Amino acid sequence: MTARITYTLGAFIVGACFPLCALIFARFAGGALGTTDFETYATQAHIAQPLYYLLDAAPLLLALVGFFTGNKQDRTSRVAVTLRREVGEKDETLARVGGDLEARKRLEMQLAHQAFHDPLTHLANRALFTNRAEHALLRSGNRKHEVAVLMLDLYDFTTINDTLGHAQGDMVLALVAQRFSRLVRPSDTLARLAGDEFAVLLDRVVSVQEAVEMAQKLIDAMATPLKLGERQIRIGISVGVAVGRADSRVDTLVRDAGLAMKEAKARGADCVRVFRPEMHAALLERVKLGADLQGAIEQQQFYLAFQPIVDLASQRVVGMEALVRWKHPKRGIVPPLEFIKLAEDTNAIVPLGSWILHAACRQIAVWQRSRPFETPLTITVNVSPVQLHHRGFIDDVRAALATTGISASSLILEITESALVDDTPENLALFVELKTLGIRLAIDDFGTGYSSLSYLQRFPFDILKIDKSFVDGVARGGTDVAFARTIIALGGMLNLRVLAEGIEEAKQLTTLKELGCQFGQGYLFSKPLDPPGMTALLDKSAAAAKVSAAATPLARVAAF
Ligand code: C2E
Ligand code: MG
Ligand code: MG
Repeated sequence: MTARITYTLGAFIVGACFPLCALIFARFAGGALGTTDFETYATQAHIAQPLYYLLDAAPLLLALVGFFTGNKQDRTSRVAVTLRREVGEKDETLARVGGDLEARKRLEMQLAHQAFHDPLTHLANRALFTNRAEHALLRSGNRKHEVAVLMLDLYDFTTINDTLGHAQGDMVLALVAQRFSRLVRPSDTLARLAGDEFAVLLDRVVSVQEAVEMAQKLIDAMATPLKLGERQIRIGISVGVAVGRADSRVDTLVRDAGLAMKEAKARGADCVRVFRPEMHAALLERVKLGADLQGAIEQQQFYLAFQPIVDLASQRVVGMEALVRWKHPKRGIVPPLEFIKLAEDTNAIVPLGSWILHAACRQIAVWQRSRPFETPLTITVNVSPVQLHHRGFIDDVRAALATTGISASSLILEITESALVDDTPENLALFVELKTLGIRLAIDDFGTGYSSLSYLQRFPFDILKIDKSFVDGVARGGTDVAFARTIIALGGMLNLRVLAEGIEEAKQLTTLKELGCQFGQGYLFSKPLDPPGMTALLDKSAAAAKVSAAATPLARVAAF
């Protein structure tokens, strides 16, 4: 029931009580006046007539008042209900909005985490590392300490990725990150900047030595192999260190540490190098040399030197190795070890290697034609792996043979042992295709790379060149002789010709001959020569051969 009805009825009942009470009052009080009804009593007692009417009208009047009061009450209740509903709805909305806010906050935090962390290792990424380094440098201005950046690179990680696959490679990265994390202090920042490149920011160091000690700790931590399922993998690292203060820039610091790291890497695994300004100068030099390299072929700045390959027994020249030289207009003669790697990195090795191949074949054709009655001299050409894997390499070899007219058996391509790590079917197919042209293949610098014996069996090599580092020691005896003996015996078993590189002393020659090595190359016989120098040497060698043939007609020169 609404308040309007309740109040109206209530007020009417109360109002009805008024005339009733008046009547009762008149009955008792009116006794003196001899009247029992209130109208007569009111008249006789001179009570105002209007009061009498008022009492009669009281039920109606009060009912009216009750009606309006109830009405008002009803309106208030309605407003209250509406308000309560609205409040309820708002509460609900607020609760929902509150929930959304939570989720949004979480999402924002997740996005922020993603923006500043590496998803694989959960370490800081480059952005966070840079940010922290900026702050650390700013802070270092007020205090008496420096900020160090350590750049770490996993040694030969590409091989792990190539051999075990990228999923295992990722696991290795995660394990390495875990191992590093245990060593850095909470105030330092360990980050993964890219691929296998990690960095550590040491917020406050008092000396470079402190940073180097930390680098050494990280290296030592990697000494224990990582467990990858059943496998145990030992990973070496190279660390570059650069130290800065408030006036240093983060990108410069990172670049400097990176340069130091490259130098450490060049020295092999588990090495630390601290940045020195000369490193930057060396880099600039390299960049300039790289730019010069681009135009050097057109400007005919390259030429070939030839080093004789001799039959050790007779010491007759049986062939030669072509060795490239760069006649730089400002720097003079630049040796190959200073630009071959650069040419590989910039891909300039492809046109350069092609020029070397054609020039070497042209030159040997000239010498072969001028000695028609002698066993054809062979030409050995060094081939870079970048060049080898370039499409069109086989066609280029074919073209060099066709244009110069030399027989395929005169051409030997030399591949450095360290370039043979990829024991892939593609590599095997490539070598087999080269062999079908009729040319021969040699492994250069044998003993310095990673070749397993299975490579020698699987790949169709013809010649094995023992690296100079083994030859150096053969005269001293000991393990070097044992190594040389084993390699020579191995060559014999696999039906390979064995050549010793870098023979400088007569004693080395004697020992090598005793060990059964047939061919050699080295300063003892001749340094690399320009074509006129080689022509003179060939003439001398032919003359000596005539004399020796006259003296010992049955002496034979081994074919190379
Ligand atoms: P490599 O192919 O092993 O060449 C032998 C290197 O040892 C040559 O150095 C040669 O001059 C040097 N050598 C020879 N006999 C002796 C010796 O008795 N004592 C000493 N100390 N050294 C000796 P070079 O010409 O400076 O070449 C260095 C390397 O550069 C070569 O090593 C080869 O890997 C690379 N290279 C040279 N020419 C070419 C080329 O045309 N193409 C490519 N891809 N690489 C080349
Ligand atoms: Mg060589
Ligand atoms: Mg060599």
